[in-house]
This record gives sequence, structure tokens and C-alpha cells, in this order.
Amino acid sequence: MTLRAKIAAGLIAAGCMGSAADAWAAEEVNVYTTRQEVLIRPLLDTFEQETGIRVNVVFAKEGVIERMKSEGANSPADAILTADVGYMLQAKSEGLLQPIQSEVLNAAIPSQYRDPEGTWYGLALRARPIMYAKDRVDPSELSTYEDLADPKWKGRICIRSSSNIYNQSLVSSMIAAQGVEKVEEWAKGFVANFAREPAGGDRDQIMAVAAGECDIAIANTYYLAGMLSGDDAAQKEAAQKVAVFWPNQDGRGVHVNISGGGVTASAQHVDNAVKLLEFMVSDEAQKIYAEAVNEYPVKPGIPASDAVAGFGEYKADPLDLAVIGEHNVEAVRLMDRAGWR
Ligand code: FE
Repeated sequence: MTLRAKIAAGLIAAGCMGSAADAWAAEEVNVYTTRQEVLIRPLLDTFEQETGIRVNVVFAKEGVIERMKSEGANSPADAILTADVGYMLQAKSEGLLQPIQSEVLNAAIPSQYRDPEGTWYGLALRARPIMYAKDRVDPSELSTYEDLADPKWKGRICIRSSSNIYNQSLVSSMIAAQGVEKVEEWAKGFVANFAREPAGGDRDQIMAVAAGECDIAIANTYYLAGMLSGDDAAQKEAAQKVAVFWPNQDGRGVHVNISGGGVTASAQHVDNAVKLLEFMVSDEAQKIYAEAVNEYPVKPGIPASDAVAGFGEYKADPLDLAVIGEHNVEAVRLMDRAGWR
């Protein structure tokens, strides 16, 4: 039986069989995620063993928001797990999430990484630093995101498309710091320094730096860590040619984003969904998750995986991530005007 069929069967049983089925149905939670199940399964197995609540995972390749919108109010999802605050903010504005109250979540997650209204919560962190070719860039040449508009970087920068939410959130954070006008000026210079038209994902930009197509990329930390610690020999070799530079350390800090979760507006198993989110910020789960996906734990004091710890310490931009959503539309328009494909 597929996961979808299992969920459907569960819902039908709950509807047709009265209180006995309700009791059974209460012992599960339906999760939509863009995360690969193989990565989060160890975590969910631990949750199931500790709580007796079964987790039905639907891997929403096309995105959890798209899937939930197409299902409407009848969506069986109780919780979503997805990456980048931009998506969490979009889910909130589409009315797909409900606010919850949880002392456990509020205590574990620093306030800038969760919704003040309680609809979305950061469960892990990813930074989006500058990455450079070790043999062609001296890190003393690097300083800030803003400096990447300097003509000295002409033809040397690779970054993915402006349609990508990670870049939209990065530019939104720059708008929050400096305003639209300054960031638009910056974006024009930055785009003029591109080595090629944006194509591919973050991993492809790192590969392009290793291959000598460009000297600089901007990419999320877990991609480089995954390449360094994974089984793919070619990716590992490429990643070893690339190093992390933490930008803006004398100023606001590097852009940091979340992967997060929330309880859906249509949830039938609200308590179980809250329990799952609370479990995910336990010390144990934070460690398992950090190891599995190479993100930084969101809960202070929990160690990162060896691969990301190797990138060194950094100062993070303290911006409230809720602010990023306020600048998303401006960011998208600005990047378009600057010619960032
Ligand atoms: Fe990603």
C-alpha cells in the first residue's frame, strides 16, 4: 500500500468506524515534506518509538504549498516540514497554517527563527555564505556580499537563478539592512560579474567553482558539507577544492535561514503534530537531524555535524526572519530589473 493509500485508508476508517477508529486515528500524524524521506526517517522512527504515534510521510516533490493548495480544505496533511522561511511565510499567507502555542518550542527556538504568531517554527539552520576556489582566491580579498559587486570579480561569480527562494531571501535580508535603492545598485554590479547565466542548483555552482568556470559562488552550507561527507567521489574531490568564507562578519553577519515546520490549518491531528514539532527540537532529535541533513541545530548548545563544524564559527545576521517575507516581492522585482535571470 502506498503512503497516499494508507493515509486515505486511515481517513476513511476514521470517518466510518466511530470512536474506536478515532482512537486509532489519534495515534498518527500526516506530514508533507520536501525533505527526502531517507534523510528524515531515522528521526521519525525515533519519534514513533518514543510516542507510539505513527508518522505518515508524503514526499511532496513539487512543493508542499502547491500540493496543499490543490487539495484545499480536505488536505490530509497535519504538519508540513519544508526549507527556507520564504516558503513558510508563503504557506502562512495562503492560510495553510494554524497558530499553535508551545512553551517547548518557544523555549528551544530563538525568537528570530520562529513566527511571532506561532504558525511556523525554525527547526534547523542553514547559512548562505560565499564559497571560493582555494587555488584562485585569497580569502583576504573577500569581505562582504556587497563587495561582490566590485569590478575585480568580473566574470568570476556563479549563483543560481533569482527564481530560487534562497536567493530571494538573501536579497530580502539585504533590503532589510540597506533599503531597495542601495541593493538594486549592488545587484546591477553583482550581475555584471556573473561568469555565466544562472543555471542549476547550489551544488552545481560549487561544482562550477571546482571546475574553474568561476572563482566564487554563493551556496547553502549543507550542500558543500553533503558533498564533502557523501559517497560521490567526484563531488567529494570537487568540494575539497572549495572553501567557505563567512561574509559581513564586521557588520550584520552572514545570511542564515531555516528549515522549518508548522501545523496545517486543515489538521485532524493537531496534538500529534505539535508533539512532532516539539520532538524535533529535543536535544536528541536536533543531533540526529544535524547529522542527517548537515544543517545547524536551531537549539543553542547542540553541536553541528563534523562536516559543517569544519567550516568554522560565524556571526549570523540577527534579522527576524519574519521580516524577510515583507521584502520578498521587492526582492524579486529588484533582481529582475538588475537582469538577474
Ligand atoms: Fe536546498
